[in-house]
Amino acid sequence: MRYKGNIRAIDELGRIVVPMEFRNALDIKSGELLRMEVEGEKIIIQKNTPSCAFCGEVNGLTKFEGKTICLNCIREISKIPN
Ligand SMILES: [Zn+2]
Repeated sequence: MRYKGNIRAIDELGRIVVPMEFRNALDIKSGELLRMEVEGEKIIIQKNTPSCAFCGEVNGLTKFEGKTICLNCIREISKIPN
């Protein structure tokens, strides 16, 4: 799925409307938190899906000491000698 060709004005407070078809396509609800980051010349806005605090993986996650971590990182960290 790729939606493109939308050009939107940013207002004086830095706000921009995410087109309804984009929100519907990604099932983004009003009030939902979105993650924003800059990559080169792009601003990337994505659903705030839980991800590993170390590598960004979104599958096989668990919580440890209040942080989200993936199984691969748990394995790698467990290899570190005392
Ligand atoms: Zn990880």
